[in-house]
Amino acid sequence: MIRADPYAFASQAAEQLIKGLSITALPVDPFAIARGREIEVVAKPARDAGVSGMLIRVGNEFAIAYATHIDNEPFQRFSVSHELGHYFLPGHVDAVIGASGIHESRAGFASTDRYEIEADRFAAGFLMPRYLFFPALVKAGEGLAAVRNLATLCKTSLHATAIRYTQCTRDPVAIVVSVGSRIDHCFMSDALKAVDDIDWIRKREAIPRDTPTFAFNQDVENVRRAVNIEETSNLQDWFGGRRSIAINEDVIGLGSYGKTLTVLYNINMPDAEDEEDEEALVESWTPRFKR
Ligand SMILES: [Zn+2]
Repeated sequence: MIRADPYAFASQAAEQLIKGLSITALPVDPFAIARGREIEVVAKPARDAGVSGMLIRVGNEFAIAYATHIDNEPFQRFSVSHELGHYFLPGHVDAVIGASGIHESRAGFASTDRYEIEADRFAAGFLMPRYLFFPALVKAGEGLAAVRNLATLCKTSLHATAIRYTQCTRDPVAIVVSVGSRIDHCFMSDALKAVDDIDWIRKREAIPRDTPTFAFNQDVENVRRAVNIEETSNLQDWFGGRRSIAINEDVIGLGSYGKTLTVLYNINMPDAEDEEDEEALVESWTPRFKR
């Protein structure tokens, strides 16, 4: 059973908006779309390093400020898109803008606040709408190489792109974001969630010891210097279960973000027929005892 994603509506709302604007090519330009709504967008150094941007209301006029302390175009584009999420998603303006007329955001998939999560998901769907992202994904290759190609095309961060990749691909893949020996968060594609007899990777669990990611994270320089490696591991190391299957494991350090991105892919499950044959074979060799 695959649980319905409670935040999928936010990505879908963004996609509908982009479709409605008749946008037919990537990258999407959040600055132009904001200005098209007469929302002023300004760069502004944040007081607090955790603040990614702000949505400001004066009467019925809106403005977006985006933080410049992180000098990174994908991050700034994501931040502006997150604020547009608060502007467009039903109920957000009233919920997030207090008496001060200002909402301060913490974009980037780290917040546990419902409105922040929804705005992040809106931003992902906005910059990577499925109807444009999926056709590009099919041509993008595999693993981290695919994520890099898509990030270049969409002008989005590796992190945001990798998450979107798991949401849109039809292949069994997972991405894991880790710090030190711990899993920070992870996403599995629907095709992987549908595989029986595996454990789901979860937040705050330890990284399995026998994996390339575990070894990679032993040296913080790998993370800081954005080193990347392409290795293999075993399905059982990450997901348990009874099938021992070699899978691909690409790992990259996310630099100043201080985290590591792992892409697990090329997970070729034996098809049901082959497994049945195997079981039948095992059975034929198992001595039977009559009672
Ligand atoms: Zn926000």
